[in-house]
Amino acid sequence: MKAYAYAGPMQPLAEMQFPTPVPADAQVLVRTRFCGVCHSDAHLQEGKFDLGEGQDLALPFPQGVVFGHEIYGEVAAVGPAVSDVKPGDRVIVYPWVGCGACELCRGGLEHVCQSGLMIGGGQNPGGFGDHVLVPHERYCVAAEGIEPAQAGSLACSGLTSFGAIKRIPNLGPHSRVVVIGAGGLGIMGIGILSRVFGVSPIVVDVDEGKLAAARAAGAGQVVDGRGPDVLMKLMELTGGGADAAIDFVGSEHTAPLAFHALRVGGKAIMVGLFGGTLKIPAALVAMQLKSIEGSNVGTMADFRELVALARAGKVPHIPVSLRPACEANAVLEDLRHGRVIGRAVLEHAHS
Ligand SMILES: [Zn+2]
Ligand SMILES: [Zn+2]
Repeated sequence: MKAYAYAGPMQPLAEMQFPTPVPADAQVLVRTRFCGVCHSDAHLQEGKFDLGEGQDLALPFPQGVVFGHEIYGEVAAVGPAVSDVKPGDRVIVYPWVGCGACELCRGGLEHVCQSGLMIGGGQNPGGFGDHVLVPHERYCVAAEGIEPAQAGSLACSGLTSFGAIKRIPNLGPHSRVVVIGAGGLGIMGIGILSRVFGVSPIVVDVDEGKLAAARAAGAGQVVDGRGPDVLMKLMELTGGGADAAIDFVGSEHTAPLAFHALRVGGKAIMVGLFGGTLKIPAALVAMQLKSIEGSNVGTMADFRELVALARAGKVPHIPVSLRPACEANAVLEDLRHGRVIGRAVLEHAHS
């Protein structure tokens, strides 16, 4: 099999040949058709993750690791213990694989397992390879009826938006929800809020094009974050504060805005990883009964629910630019320089 593999920090990925894995036990071999390229792939290639204020999280990968976690393809072969998946099935791969043994994994939270290895982040090979070895059939979710080039991104950007939305208590058409950031994740979130839950969120961004896209995706109101009195406008539009605010940016400017825009008892949900330090008046957390909650992709159960919604046509499509897999390095550069609209998706050639 062929793959575009890690060749050291900041080095271009290298085209490499590996023996095609043979699935054992409950493993599944997937022939990759499409794999979305994510900002986190660019971080992985850099070998570090910027936490802001000069702090880094080192990502010590050995050379030869194959990234890519937004995987769509068809089952090529299955191990002898596989019962529900068969060759030829079209599947999306849930990549957030945990160790399977810790308390988090046993409680259904393997996506935040501290010793797990996600597919495309150490568990080899990921979707920048033309085949992916899935460690257990339960990570393969049927994708029939979903546009193939859109499908893989449900496992990352789609699930991240959906996972955050699922944290809003008593969500319904009456809910007053503020969304900060109308980039890829935000637009997906606005679309899901509007189509699945009947909510028309109030959306803040600093870019006119993105605010227009937010309106088209189902925003009830939009607020230009560069303007004066942003918080006052949010208070007005929510009638005294939001039930929930989702921060898809996660900067030292957006996070306090999410917090202050809440009503008494409201919940701020932190998703974005822009970085910086969160500063809020500590006493207000207590006095106003507010909560701040982190959200990171989503559980397997959330993912199955999201895929079912996508199969029913309820998840908005995102613009996709298809690129041949051999352009993986160029795509990562484009992502770093903000030249990708929507999702860049690699297409693998199979003879
Ligand atoms: Zn991702
Ligand atoms: Zn675990």
